[in-house]
Amino acid sequence: MKYKSILLFGAPGSGKGTQGKVIGNILGFMHTSTGDLFRALDKNSEMGKVAAQYSSKGLLVPDDFTVNLWTQSMQKLVDAGKLNPPTDILVMDGIPRSVKQAELLADNIDVLKILSLNVSDMDMMVDRLKKRAIKEGRKDDADEKVIRNRFAVYEKETQPVLGFYPKDKIATVDALMSPIRVLEAILKVLIPIREAVDAQPAKPSCCGGH
Ligand code: ADP
Repeated sequence: MKYKSILLFGAPGSGKGTQGKVIGNILGFMHTSTGDLFRALDKNSEMGKVAAQYSSKGLLVPDDFTVNLWTQSMQKLVDAGKLNPPTDILVMDGIPRSVKQAELLADNIDVLKILSLNVSDMDMMVDRLKKRAIKEGRKDDADEKVIRNRFAVYEKETQPVLGFYPKDKIATVDALMSPIRVLEAILKVLIPIREAVDAQPAKPSCCGGH
C-alpha cells in the first residue's frame, strides 16, 4: 500500500517546517521532516556522521541514504501504531528533494497534492534563516555561505522535482504572507482532500469476504 501524501515544497526558510508541524497536529495528518530525521541521528554513529558531512556544507545527503532512512522511519511509525496508512495523510517536508528521490519514492507514495510555498524575495529567506539559527542553534543556518549554497542546491536539484508531477497536482501559496495566512491558504487546499479520503469506504482487511 502507498502512503497517502501531501508534499510541502519550497526553498530553505519558506516555512515548510513551521506549517508542517501545525498541520501534523491535526487529526488524520502526520508531519515527516527529513531535516529533523537527520538532526535526530546520533552524531557519533556512522549514519549521523554521513548526514552531518553533507548538511554542514549545505549539500544534499545522498539520495539512497535519505530515502532508506525515511522509509525505515515510516515503517517504525506504522509498527508502533502511530501511523495508519489507509487513513492518515503524510505531510512530507523536505522529501523528495531531488528527481532521483521522487523516482525512488514513486512506488511508496500516493501524492495527493503538492503545496508549493512560493518565495519572491530570497533576501527575506536569509533573514528568516539567521533568526532561526539563533532560536534553534542550527549551524547550517548561521553561516551565510552555507545558506547561499542551500539556495543554489535548491534551484539546481529541488526545483526540477516540480516537473516530475502533473501540473494540476500543484497548488502555489505565497510564503511571504504571515504564518497564519499561509496556514489558512494551505487549509483551503487540504480540507477537501481530507474529506475525500474520509469519504472513501474502508477497505476490507482481507480478501474474498462479502
Ligand atoms: P532547510 O529546508 O531549511 O534547508 P531542512 O531541515 O529541511 O532545512 O534540511 C537541512 C539539511 O538536511 C539540508 O540542507 C540537507 O543537507 C539535508 N536534507 C534534508 N532533507 C534532505 C533530502 N530529502 N535529501 C537530501 N538531503 C536532505
